[in-house]
Amino acid sequence: MKYVIGNWKANKNHTESANWIETFQGEFSPNEQVTLVICPPFPFLSLVRNALKGFPQVFIGAQNVSLFEEGSYTGEVTAKTLKEIVSFAIIGHSERRKNFHETDEELTRKVQLAKKYNLEPIYCVRDEKDPIPAGVTFVAYEPVAAIGTGQNEPPEKVIEMKKKMHLPDNCVFIYGGSVNETNISSYLQTGEIDGFLVGKASLDAHQFLAMAKAATK
Ligand code: PEP
Repeated sequence: MKYVIGNWKANKNHTESANWIETFQGEFSPNEQVTLVICPPFPFLSLVRNALKGFPQVFIGAQNVSLFEEGSYTGEVTAKTLKEIVSFAIIGHSERRKNFHETDEELTRKVQLAKKYNLEPIYCVRDEKDPIPAGVTFVAYEPVAAIGTGQNEPPEKVIEMKKKMHLPDNCVFIYGGSVNETNISSYLQTGEIDGFLVGKASLDAHQFLAMAKAATK
């Protein structure tokens, strides 16, 4: 099984999300070999989920979960709140580590909360030095220099890093960093990469599906 995970980040309004869905619905063709995970901003999780319910191998993910479980935490979105809507949660993205100063301890707590409410954490690490909390199965290696820059890290470097990392048993190893429909096959050819976390190229449903198609070859 291969995974193509689209991280919309803080992009798209309601109309743009609806347009993305329409393109996706028109162009999607089922494929048992690829799982797609779409991670829109919180306000559009239900919209995307309801529109794509029944599409095989298509799941919804959150881009973050709160550090708190529930209660008086105005503005927070908790794993408990998310559990009926999403199946996955991105945790530890470098943009959150940098802009929101999320620490390893906080990220471990987020993993625990996600797992408690049956969300599968997609745990992002920048290199082999970022510890991977217990219970994580999906590890996304995302070198900071490759994120959103168009400078994807060459597959051989990704494999070198994979060897240095202390990955959990039965790990699903994901690469993220300027992956697109043109370069995705170079990673797949290595036979060492199980999936992709895709930012920019996932914002276009046509490109997102082109990557899904490439992942079946
Ligand atoms: C990301 O946000 O995780 C990412 C890899 O972004 P991009 O594909 O735009 O580099």
